[in-house]
Amino acid sequence: MKIDRLRSLHVSAEWDYHEPLGEAFLSRPVNIYPELAALEPSWPVADVAGGPPYTVEAHFLLIDTDEGASGICGPVGAEDIAIIERYFGEILIGEDPQAIERIWDKMYRHSIHGRKGTPMMALSKVDLALWDLKGKLLGAPVYQLLGGPSRERIRAYASMLGYSVEPNKVIERTRHFLAQGFTAFKWFMPCAPKDGEPGIRKNLAVIRAAREAAGPDCDLMFDAWSSWNVPYTLRMIELSREYRPYWFEEPVLADLIPQYAELRREARGVFISGGEHEYTRWGIKALLDAGAVDVLQADVTWAGGLSEMTKICALASAYDIPVIPHHGGWPSTHLIASQALSTCPMQEWLIQHGRTPNVFYKHKLVPVDGHIHLPTAPGLTMDLADEGVSVLEERVLAG
Ligand SMILES: [Mg+2]
Repeated sequence: MKIDRLRSLHVSAEWDYHEPLGEAFLSRPVNIYPELAALEPSWPVADVAGGPPYTVEAHFLLIDTDEGASGICGPVGAEDIAIIERYFGEILIGEDPQAIERIWDKMYRHSIHGRKGTPMMALSKVDLALWDLKGKLLGAPVYQLLGGPSRERIRAYASMLGYSVEPNKVIERTRHFLAQGFTAFKWFMPCAPKDGEPGIRKNLAVIRAAREAAGPDCDLMFDAWSSWNVPYTLRMIELSREYRPYWFEEPVLADLIPQYAELRREARGVFISGGEHEYTRWGIKALLDAGAVDVLQADVTWAGGLSEMTKICALASAYDIPVIPHHGGWPSTHLIASQALSTCPMQEWLIQHGRTPNVFYKHKLVPVDGHIHLPTAPGLTMDLADEGVSVLEERVLAG
């Protein structure tokens, strides 16, 4: 069997979603430039004010074989499609689609400037489509091919990106999802050093409200999205200690590895997490060697796909550092279900962003009682729904 064609599908669907959406954005490192702070990050729904129902668009990657079977991965970015077409198409045509390790290595060696960032994110999508294809060829969900299932369902944490950080709203929404069975929550810090003392009080108000609503037994995590510095983070840790944060996430820019290690040494019982903006086994090993994080958050759709994340999990387990991946949707579920509970104890569930792909999917990813139940269909369960998805454009990328 050989790969004979790569395709992309540009699709759209209606999202009839009546819950709060896009109420707040997180602090970003670029916000120190006022003219850029005003540019809010792209949202999966183009016009939040225009619905519901919202019109949602996405791209999917398909890898076809000469025997008729196909693998699919999506949603993927338009930039993923452009990079795959430019750099990986020729490499893939004629390859045995089950020889994923060989294909990964060929793509990696070919894109020598693409070891990190957007090119590695595109490579990851190819890897995931190949694993989907392999699962379908062998008639098994991918977590089975990788050594799972390690459990029947995965504890999910409620990741509150997009929800208002007004303390009364934090309390209301935390209670709402607590009642749905979630026992861990992550809120996104609105303020950074440039916001001064009022910003510190605002961050602290979010932390206090989350603990008040969640009660004493839940895990609470707080994401600074690379926007803080070392003294600011240490101050936030000390001020919030009475509310028992589990971790502060990405307190400083991803390249400041010694500063992560310093924070981890000084944090005294509060964990430092990071790694969602790091790539491949080599990038992650540098974090582990430096003692930079208590919790590793590499993303299966960015860091090199499932082929690379299984290696990252093996590395992390040797350092006794848990991997709680940056969200990653269904591919994360398959990865986590293939790993020991101590290696991958939990999955991130973005309440707002995580739902959007479901409008395209046949197999909906919906936590029940705060847990994600394992899918049973063959492959990586990112297949398009039979109804309700319109194909705006189909393009042949190679072959
Ligand atoms: Mg994060």
